[in-house]
Amino acid sequence: MNIAFIGLGNMGGGMAANLVKASHDVRAFDLSEEALSRAESAGCTRAASVAEAVAAADAVVTMLPAGTHVAAVYGNEVFDTAAKNTLLIDCSTIDVATARAVGEDAKSRGFAMVDAPVSGGIAAASAGTLTFMVGGEKEAFDRAEPILSAMGKAVIHAGDIGTGQAAKICNNMLLGATMAATSETLALAEKLGLDPQTFYDIASVSSGQSWSLTSYCPLPGVGPQSPADNDYQGGFAAALMLKDLKLAADAARTANAAVPMGGLAGSLYQMLVSAGEGGRDFSAIIEMLRGKTAAR
Ligand code: NAD
Repeated sequence: MNIAFIGLGNMGGGMAANLVKASHDVRAFDLSEEALSRAESAGCTRAASVAEAVAAADAVVTMLPAGTHVAAVYGNEVFDTAAKNTLLIDCSTIDVATARAVGEDAKSRGFAMVDAPVSGGIAAASAGTLTFMVGGEKEAFDRAEPILSAMGKAVIHAGDIGTGQAAKICNNMLLGATMAATSETLALAEKLGLDPQTFYDIASVSSGQSWSLTSYCPLPGVGPQSPADNDYQGGFAAALMLKDLKLAADAARTANAAVPMGGLAGSLYQMLVSAGEGGRDFSAIIEMLRGKTAAR
């Protein structure tokens, strides 16, 4: 297929390279010259504008920073230049309201569109092992599925347009809250004189078990290899967790839903990011909760 790819940053670069590996003809556009040359080295064809990238495309994939970029790229450029049978796939993590508005706009103009945010970080984007949560009509999902499969290990239809974003922020709110709870618990266990490995062995087969504890343990040297074993480098940046918690808080306000744990997780991640730690993995929250961040 002829696929236009807009936004070839940390995530989009690896994703576009996997589309090339799956024998798609990928026409790439990014505002950054550096991102474009990296995409060219990976086998994409460079486009001079969004319009040039989408002109002959069967599908458009976008991987942009936030809702404002997505609304601008589709509203000001893609809608006016793509052919009506072009499938539109937005993989960015954005607010539910913008995802719905852009999707409805696409529909009113005769385009099929899905929101398809991802779970998994930069390594998963490069390895082609992302999970896609997809919102949109079944017919649009069926068309998007083979394209997304070339970039991921799981592609799940969540429901109507916007539900991909809803699933993504609900999942990440749960993750942020469990990581904060796991971290303060490990800090308390330590202060109560428990050996960290012994407490891990007990909790990992007891009712306190969670993915944050047994797959991504925030304590170095305990559990499987995780960013904690590499001074919290790599993985999922605390700043991106904060972004997702803010999106969850916005969506909760709109839906009139009470999310006190998610709200508290948001405040804790705001403290971590404000302390200059936004570039470190989100599991570094344990250092703040152990009172260690300030001493670094
Ligand atoms: P990034 O900043 O590295 O890449 C975004 C790219 O979009 C940049 O290269 C930028 O130049 C380009 N861009 C911005 N406006 C543009 C425009 N108008 N036209 C063309 N290109 C434009 O960000 P990223 O880390 O790749 O993240 C992309 C999205 O994926 C975000 O929504 C993020 O929340 C989400 N996400 C990121 C991760 C992660 O671990 N990095 C994980 C899951 C989801």
